[in-house]
Amino acid sequence: MEIKRFYAQKSDRVGSTFNIGGDEAHHMIRVLRYKVGYKIIVFDGTGYDYYCTIRELGKDYVIADIDEKVINDAEPKVYLRLFQGIAKSDKMDVIVQKAVELGVAEITPVITARSEKDLKLEKLEKVALSAAKQCGASRLTVINEPIYLSEIPFENLVIFANENEENRTLRDVTLGKCTKIDLVVGSEGGFTEDEGEELSQKGAVAVTLGKRILRAETAAIVLSSLILYKAGVI
Ligand code: SAH
Repeated sequence: MEIKRFYAQKSDRVGSTFNIGGDEAHHMIRVLRYKVGYKIIVFDGTGYDYYCTIRELGKDYVIADIDEKVINDAEPKVYLRLFQGIAKSDKMDVIVQKAVELGVAEITPVITARSEKDLKLEKLEKVALSAAKQCGASRLTVINEPIYLSEIPFENLVIFANENEENRTLRDVTLGKCTKIDLVVGSEGGFTEDEGEELSQKGAVAVTLGKRILRAETAAIVLSSLILYKAGVI
């Protein structure tokens, strides 16, 4: 039987034992109907996979003993943050799921002139958790509270997917030794001209992803993938 992965808080580990509660425990107890002696892999965001054996199952908690601690090197060596104009809920789910699979470290929904109003953060956190478990991540992608476009920080290299950019492609962008890169992608409605100018003026590097207009979710996946390729991660 495939050994399934579960997420625990760092504080859930005491010595060589995990005491897991919440949704993850519920999943093991009620959904998967795990029993004492079952094997699980626990990750807690510290970069390790803990191979464990279940010692005890309560109504809402699972106690598991650590058999082995193994380094998980599935995290990309670049720290990517995706600033995503808020798209429709089902598209945001896709964006979060795919960004997590690719190894994006943080996703921040961005409120823009044409972004969607409705944002289900808790749902996105669930999507992120389940994607992290499925793909073998060792840390959880952080889903941040939404911010306004004007609040996007300019502390790292910021790359901005702009369908109005005619010349610059990612081939023209030098990542150098950057280990932290921020990506900005618009919602379905894209950015207004003013918003595009604001980003460029603050130092965002606008790139085209080709002559066709991609959907927001496609643009987010393509931009993240190409950056990882350029950074030598994939
Ligand atoms: N404003 C557009 C669609 C926006 S597409 C319209 O309705 O005509 C959503 C987002 O995907 C854009 O804001 C941009 O960030 C990204 N995007 C889509 N196609 C792109 C391309 N060819 N090059 C760069 N970015 C693109």
